[in-house]
Amino acid sequence: MLVDVHAHIYKEYFNGDINEIIEKAEKNNVVSIINAGINHETNKEVIELSKKFSILKSSLGLYPLEGIKLEEDQINETINFIDKNRNKIIAIGEVGLDYHYIKNKNKEQKDIFQKIINIAEKLDLPIVVHSRGAESDCVEMLESSKIKKIIMHSFSGNMKLIKRIGDNGWTFSIPTNVVYSTQFQNIVDKTSISQILTETDSPYLSPKKNERNEPSNIVHSIKKISDIKKLEKEEIEKLIFLNFQKIFIK
Ligand SMILES: [Zn+2]
Repeated sequence: MLVDVHAHIYKEYFNGDINEIIEKAEKNNVVSIINAGINHETNKEVIELSKKFSILKSSLGLYPLEGIKLEEDQINETINFIDKNRNKIIAIGEVGLDYHYIKNKNKEQKDIFQKIINIAEKLDLPIVVHSRGAESDCVEMLESSKIKKIIMHSFSGNMKLIKRIGDNGWTFSIPTNVVYSTQFQNIVDKTSISQILTETDSPYLSPKKNERNEPSNIVHSIKKISDIKKLEKEEIEKLIFLNFQKIFIK
């Protein structure tokens, strides 16, 4: 039983073939896909799609590049929507900080991220964190929070931070480009299998460069993780599914 704990299955990317990619995922033994919103519009879409496809579980968020464009009342509206839909979602995400694409707005980004951390604490939900170029600020803010279930998605930080996250008991969500990315291979190698999850970040981070990614590609990650950990594929699959249950399903 495979899980894709972070994907963006929106009509914008999968226009007309959502049915097909879901069918293909199911055929490849994917049992759960956490579909993550990045703004108010996609948060609404994520909830709607989860009604149609039971394999899709909802995670609502505000991506840093989206949040930074908004006025304060729009940010509050997004957060209120998350609050109101507590019973329909299993995580908060995609959220976090991005100093790679957003320059000179660290304070503004952190203020928004702090609001998101507060709602994740209030709703007692796991948080799926984007931290590109802002890894150490993200880790610091999360360490100051009361959130227990923290998933670092597609983490690009250095070895020292990888170790610190491991020691904190948080989880790494390993994207499908682990098949060629030495960064993610390294994280898998240095981290306990009990702190590893699999994601596609569809339509991004495909195992095959320049192809649109989709949840059925999780099979490639399982194979790679099994090679690195020197454990049977079936064993890796089972252990990652247990991590998924422990974190997202109470
Ligand atoms: Zn993402």
